[in-house]
Amino acid sequence: MRKIGLTGGIGAGKSAVADLLVSYGAVLIDSDLIAREVVAPGTPGLAAVVEEFGPGVLGADGALDRPALGAIVFGDQARLAALNAIVHPLVRARSAELEAAAAPEAVVVHDVPLLAENGLAGLFDQVIVVDASEAVRLDRLVRLRGMAESEARARMAAQASRDERLAVADLVVENNGSRAELAQQVKAAWEQLTRPAPPAE
Ligand code: ATP
Repeated sequence: MRKIGLTGGIGAGKSAVADLLVSYGAVLIDSDLIAREVVAPGTPGLAAVVEEFGPGVLGADGALDRPALGAIVFGDQARLAALNAIVHPLVRARSAELEAAAAPEAVVVHDVPLLAENGLAGLFDQVIVVDASEAVRLDRLVRLRGMAESEARARMAAQASRDERLAVADLVVENNGSRAELAQQVKAAWEQLTRPAPPAE
């Protein structure tokens, strides 16, 4: 099994690259998706979050009210650490379970938005960084995601810098261009990832 970490700044195109890698045959482990699953209604994860943060983080439907929780933890290191202490171990356990279920020859791609920030490069055989300029990312977040420009800028500023992220990259996929250009690059990256190791001398 080859274990790949996929990361990139917000709006760089991680999900787009992950989708392409899956279309070429990768097994995707999406930590954002898992982070939502482990606090879905009825889970012990959600019960733990409510115990820590109070019933105000629940919506009328009994599901986690993410904006309410976000308002509590954003900018508050101690509260964020308390949330992470609940969610991170659950995400790790579920990721390990999914990884254990993958075939021995699988290329398993972990989509980890904060890989550089959390110093996680060592967990992977290789790290792919999706890179796009700040202007392109801002445009995507505002135009395609409907985010306010001020919020997009604040989120970008809260993450690692491009240089910090590139420093942990084994492979960089540049995504400033078209989707067709992206597909071509990801195809090349896939070929590199799945190339058999050269025979030992
Ligand atoms: P986040 O950190 O928020 O999860 P992300 O890095 O996963 O973001 P994506 O969701 O893949 O980023 O891409 C951001 C937006 O830009 C999406 O709406 C996506 O469809 C679009 N997008 C990504 N790459 C391209 C491209 N090459 N051309 C046009 N649109 C693109």
